[in-house]
Amino acid sequence: MLVRLMYASRAVTAFDQDQLALIVRKSRGSNPAEGITGVLCFSQGIFLQVLEGGRSAVNRLYNRIASDPRHTQVELLCYEEIEERRFAGWSMGQVDIARLNPALLLKYSEKALLDPYAVSGKVSMALFEEMLATASIVGQP
Ligand code: FAD
Repeated sequence: MLVRLMYASRAVTAFDQDQLALIVRKSRGSNPAEGITGVLCFSQGIFLQVLEGGRSAVNRLYNRIASDPRHTQVELLCYEEIEERRFAGWSMGQVDIARLNPALLLKYSEKALLDPYAVSGKVSMALFEEMLATASIVGQP
């Protein structure tokens, strides 16, 4: 039984690249043993993450992430049972915001900003899929 979950959250402090790298490293270290794959995007204080894997493993990880004191306003945007993964190649891929064409953000939102709180979960998922198609996700294991 596979599920896909997507949430958004806000960093509680100004996050630098080292802090972000720590989370990505931890994710890439822990997720394979749990069969978790996914992608993490961070821009202007906002996290957007997709997790895929077995239902119990994804639920357990989401609960752990949601109680992490490094972020707040954790909002579940999407939760679905799936037949196959979309992000199978990433133990935790990272969106390279610098490589992201602002037109891609404009396609789905009022401004060229990542703001998952202002759009539907469906739109944020569509954005992730476009990032996948335009090779904006880095960090293949
Ligand atoms: P430890 O790493 O030993 O952490 C113990 C406790 O301290 C936890 O409550 C943890 O939240 C907290 N903590 C750890 N480091 C810090 C720090 N630098 N500052 C403040 N508190 C800290 N983990 C994964 O395994 N996979 C993921 O895909 C994943 N994605 C994440 C995405 C985001 C946006 C964030 C903020 C965290 C993510 N994490 C992820 C980390 C996750 O929230 C837990 O910190 C981690 O899984 C706990 O690992 P652990 O049980 O080994 O505990």
